[in-house]
Amino acid sequence: MDAEQLLSSVSQASDETEFYTPMPAGYKPGKTKYVVVFGTVMSGLGKGIFSSSLAKVLQDKGLTVAPIKLEGYLNLDSGTLNPFRHGEVFVLDDGMECDMDLGTYERMLDQDLMRHNFTTSGQMYTRVLEKERQGSYLGRDVQMIPHVTGEVKCKLRELAVTTDADVVFVEIGGTVGDVENLYYIEAVREMAFEEGPDSFCMVSLTYIIEPPALGEQKSKAAQLGIGRLLASGIQPHIIACRAQSPVTKKVREKLALYSNVQFENVFSMHDCETVYVIPEMIREAGIDRAVLDILRIGDRVDEAAEARARRTWLDYIDRFRDATRPVVIGITGKYTSLRDSYASIIKALEHCGTHHGVRVHIEWIDTSELSDETAAEALKGVHGIIVPGGFGARGAEGKISCIRYVRENKIPYLGICYGFQLAVVEFARSVCGLDDANSTELDRDCKHPVIDILPEQKQIEGLGGNMRLGGRDIVIKDGTMAKRVFSGASEVRMRFRHRYEVDPRYIEELEKGGMIFSGHAPDYPIMQILELPQAMHPYFVGTQAHPELISRPLRPEPLFLHLVTAAIQRAYPDGLDGEPAASTDSETVETTT
Ligand code: GLN
Repeated sequence: MDAEQLLSSVSQASDETEFYTPMPAGYKPGKTKYVVVFGTVMSGLGKGIFSSSLAKVLQDKGLTVAPIKLEGYLNLDSGTLNPFRHGEVFVLDDGMECDMDLGTYERMLDQDLMRHNFTTSGQMYTRVLEKERQGSYLGRDVQMIPHVTGEVKCKLRELAVTTDADVVFVEIGGTVGDVENLYYIEAVREMAFEEGPDSFCMVSLTYIIEPPALGEQKSKAAQLGIGRLLASGIQPHIIACRAQSPVTKKVREKLALYSNVQFENVFSMHDCETVYVIPEMIREAGIDRAVLDILRIGDRVDEAAEARARRTWLDYIDRFRDATRPVVIGITGKYTSLRDSYASIIKALEHCGTHHGVRVHIEWIDTSELSDETAAEALKGVHGIIVPGGFGARGAEGKISCIRYVRENKIPYLGICYGFQLAVVEFARSVCGLDDANSTELDRDCKHPVIDILPEQKQIEGLGGNMRLGGRDIVIKDGTMAKRVFSGASEVRMRFRHRYEVDPRYIEELEKGGMIFSGHAPDYPIMQILELPQAMHPYFVGTQAHPELISRPLRPEPLFLHLVTAAIQRAYPDGLDGEPAASTDSETVETTT
């Protein structure tokens, strides 16, 4: 029986069959192949990084790739998750709030993703329960197998149909052995069987421990983890080993033997200077060719396209390596102890630093104890500041003190979302003389609520999925710095995630004080970009959007790019070939107070 016959025999829901494999209209068996990445030993190892790097190498070869992340948790999206526990909430253009891995895919593939590239158990179960209410299961008792697994398979095939992908990359969240993702693993096992030979490439991402007391790499934990995958009925074709240092031949041989995986397909993915070198590591190890062989799609490769894409990418890596002159950017924030909460900002700074030939060092600034008196000390030595997105009152007054200090001392500033709003509060207080100005998020009864809840948000109850979310256009005002930063564009598109906005009643007063709103929404008076005139400050910019979410290695985001330009000017007044600036902190404080 070939794949097509097998699929048609299992695809019908009927009361005569035990199977349930709904098939999306237009599905072409054999057209789309699948790479599935499973985590073993522990989570948080970089499944998304491996999967997106491999997808990038295949994309370079001219293949169409489509990633999907299957999350085990019951939340409908990542919007209500605490970034401190789970990493940043990444927002897609269509408004989906999802796992930070989707950011890795977007950056690596330079591709905008959509809600069909992400799902959670919450979404899968909702789909099943809705169908149950509609009577779609024809009197059957609804079960994890075959109904929930059936919906998972359908979801993957739908992605294949809508993207017409050569290869769908499936990343299963968590670790093999977790109760939450058991049914995802079973679904891909079934689907690999249904699609037939050469249709699936199974990758086990594992971890090689190197206990300091032993001083050598040990493979047992990895063996046990992969054994668990084998026990689920899945034979990996490729093993990618995360480790601190390159994984030794001995360890890779052991893993190969105990997992039935060819030695050449056991790949060391050790720590490296930037994730963007991993596609090249994969090429050098020949993993891309192994995948093409396993899936039998070598004939779909466009070698000339690959050579071009590879050169461009290697050029980025070379520039990254050559960019050693340091520039220090301070980031304030509540989640300072976990860098994953700011993953996209860190990446955006890396893209921009590489573009300009500098290495951006990040200084984390805890603002919870900060005041006007201590801001100078906390910001000593930074060449630019970012106040990133955030929620709630903790550390807010400290952030406002930082903003005051950088505004007065002409230190380059980029305020993102919350950082935009707090810049408005600070300006209203210090420049417009509205002493009691605040955001109603921080003080509901303040006299001058310059930042207030968006009108449409007033009616909404609960916290899930109901902010002003996703991609929106921004009209750029003529004659502003924003207009120059965006190379003269009259409209740009960015992603948003907020509940509060500049209260339109205060716009005139803020403008009178000198603040320029250089970007706003096309149809409503929602202010989306602010700046100070260059006579007042070299680079003081805020945006209600999240520009970090759209920065890509080869297309660094302009607001970040110009922040880094301004920081370089502060750090190296005579240009990058010149001497670094002497610390002028004490002088600048004096000139402006
Ligand atoms: N808390 C602010 C709001 O809801 C800012 C949100 C953010 O920074 N993402 O508008």
